[in-house]
Amino acid sequence: VIELGTPSHSIVTTCAYCGVGCQFEAEMQGETVVRMTPWKHGKANHGHSCVKGRFAWGYTTHKDRILNPMIRESITDPWREVSWDEAITYAATRLRDLQGRHGTKAIGGITSSRCTNEETYLVQKMIRAVFGNNNTDTCARVCHSPTGYGLGRAFGTSAGTQDFDSVEHTDVVIVMGANPTDAHPVFASRLKQRLRKGAKLIVIDPRRIDLVRSPHIKAAHHLALKPGTNVAVVTSLAHVVVTEGLFDEAFIRERCDWDEFQHYAEFVADPRHSPEATEALTGVPAAELRAAARLFATGGNGSIYYGLGVTEHSQGSTTVMGIANLAMLTGNIGRPGVGVNPLRGQNNVQGSCDMGSFPHELPGYRHVSQDATRDVFEKLWGTVLDKEPGLRINNMLDAAVEGTFRGLYVQGEDILQSDPDTRHVAAGLAAMDCVIVQDLFLNETANYAHVFLPGSTFLEKDGTFTNAERRINRVRKVMTPKNGYADWEVTQLLANAMGAGWTYTHPAQVMDEIAATTPTFAGVSFDLIDEKGSVQWPCNELHPEGTPIMHVDGFVRGKGRFIVTEYVATDEKTGPRFPLLLTTGRILSQYNVGAQTRRTSNMVWHDQDVLEIHPHDAEVRGIKDGDRVRLASRSGETSLRAFVTDRVSPAGGLHHLPPSGHAGQRRHHRLLGLGDQLPGIQGDGGAGAPLQR
Ligand code: SF4
Repeated sequence: VIELGTPSHSIVTTCAYCGVGCQFEAEMQGETVVRMTPWKHGKANHGHSCVKGRFAWGYTTHKDRILNPMIRESITDPWREVSWDEAITYAATRLRDLQGRHGTKAIGGITSSRCTNEETYLVQKMIRAVFGNNNTDTCARVCHSPTGYGLGRAFGTSAGTQDFDSVEHTDVVIVMGANPTDAHPVFASRLKQRLRKGAKLIVIDPRRIDLVRSPHIKAAHHLALKPGTNVAVVTSLAHVVVTEGLFDEAFIRERCDWDEFQHYAEFVADPRHSPEATEALTGVPAAELRAAARLFATGGNGSIYYGLGVTEHSQGSTTVMGIANLAMLTGNIGRPGVGVNPLRGQNNVQGSCDMGSFPHELPGYRHVSQDATRDVFEKLWGTVLDKEPGLRINNMLDAAVEGTFRGLYVQGEDILQSDPDTRHVAAGLAAMDCVIVQDLFLNETANYAHVFLPGSTFLEKDGTFTNAERRINRVRKVMTPKNGYADWEVTQLLANAMGAGWTYTHPAQVMDEIAATTPTFAGVSFDLIDEKGSVQWPCNELHPEGTPIMHVDGFVRGKGRFIVTEYVATDEKTGPRFPLLLTTGRILSQYNVGAQTRRTSNMVWHDQDVLEIHPHDAEVRGIKDGDRVRLASRSGETSLRAFVTDRVSPAGGLHHLPPSGHAGQRRHHRLLGLGDQLPGIQGDGGAGAPLQR
């Protein structure tokens, strides 16, 4: 029972969980949140919300929050609470000392997709202008960086093409490697409404996700591919479109590079890519795949929505480019109801990428080697910038083990918990001399930290988040930071302790700096967002009202580019020692690793992860529904409660077995796929497959 008081006032802000970007009214009694009510004017949610967002404030006041900075000489020492002054001075001194002994490039940092655009911008600015290198990376490295690369190469911009409203105009939808019902519930509701009105659905996913068959919805086709064969399936769909003459020649001639199309068409037309030739590899019946390709090419407005089941792969970028090929082949770009739409996992993963978090790109996706771009920032920041790309997270960890990378600043990201190879991350962190963690709770990465700086929640700061449709929403402070400072202020303290001399007094000034340096944000300001409710980038002189749909008259890069997508088998193979494949997924009531949602009232709906395992695999191992089972892989181990279900396929990828008596009995327990082989990644639902980066 939740006691509700009477609110004295309300403030509109944006959910800090998934990439839908729902807006809420935080109804307040003084500085206490009474409840969160979905805001009817929110352009991403139109007054709706999911169970996560409605209870999103609970973790702000949870007893586990760390509110005072802590330091320790060694990770085997106990933590010692200190003042902010002492913690910041300690961190700055250790980082500068490491640079003095090991060189400018011996330190770096990781930005957070949970923090605001302004906070992310300041972290990468600190790394580039104060640390003096490009050793910045982001948690998107383990989720949607293939989207950035793949869509950037095909279309010229690293973002989805549509707004969510576009789904109202779609006729046939591909959902690939995503489980919107659980991971993006408010968007899923809109999609289901459209499907109930007659739009056709093709699901590409090894699991029988909710969308395949739910009340009043039945997918026209469920391509239950074997994990790891995404590229082969997408290329085979394109094979059917090309060889059966179903492609949109007029669109391709006008909008795409015709020579590259011809080269690509020759590649996909090869008989080795036919559904019949790839059936054994992908596990998808050839007739089903042909029918799905025909439906997508001829069924009217075609849109593609995908998630981490596409991107969290060794061939993630290739699959994204294959999806872009499919959209261009069928002329499904540049108008309502079509397009390529990555469903971003975290609230601000789009924004963290836009803000220059990657080691090779300054804000606005401009390569660090571009003299003209560096010149803009050098003039404003008053420093000379490195023109060599920096280290990615994995490279930082490797370099730490080798002894050349010695210090790391991690803001709002638990890399030990959420990155793929736990042993690899632990080894890298353990080898460093100074790890600074800034977070709400003592997370697992903090086990290897020397400095812990308390983080602030979205309710304690001003700023902006950018959702999956490039919509920049305001985040508004509803209470004083319980830890004393918003995250952007902490970054400024650290930067200044290392000699920066920054004087920001409000995040609006940071957004003004972003607008002054980044062409796609040139027209964005807090005033404009407050006036309009939100705005979608690009927003500049050419698009003063923002851009709901991209590539309307031409692609950002000029002509759309078809890219050959050769399938390469993953290195992650089953064998006698590790006979089963594990994929990961999401559950409705929890967000990512659960650090926030497990500390809110909605945790009562689902308090632990489960292992979904097929009845056949369970039976041969003597596992019964509800048993606690231990999983071990090459990367780590864990234990989980078993949920025996035929929603997942059995080992070996056999399909179409008769349903077990357990199927569908406990619908809320849908998390993990089969067994044993892969690292414990916190992936998104869906085509989840061998996960490698
Ligand atoms: Fe909306 Fe996502 Fe928050 Fe749910 S978790 S309220 S769908 S932004």
